[in-house]
Amino acid sequence: MVNFYYVLFVGGLFLVVILIILWDWLSKKESKKHQTKPVRICPKCKSKNISPDFSRQTFGEQSEFNAHKCNECGYRGIFFPEIDEKQ
Ligand SMILES: [Zn+2]
Repeated sequence: MVNFYYVLFVGGLFLVVILIILWDWLSKKESKKHQTKPVRICPKCKSKNISPDFSRQTFGEQSEFNAHKCNECGYRGIFFPEIDEKQ
């Protein structure tokens, strides 16, 4: 005869282990999200005051996904490097 309480004990232990792994994974995911935030900077004047350049959309579908404009020096372009801002 199989001991019912033994099965219950092992099953409960298994459930707890799964919950711990899940909790650990979730907390790691959460802390990673808060650590760094990629920030776009202007390659010309290093300013972080960047906004998407919607005026480029008229040139075609290719340019609309990455075109940006610098609000400090007026630089427009596709190439704007992303850096990790330290908090
Ligand atoms: Zn600039």
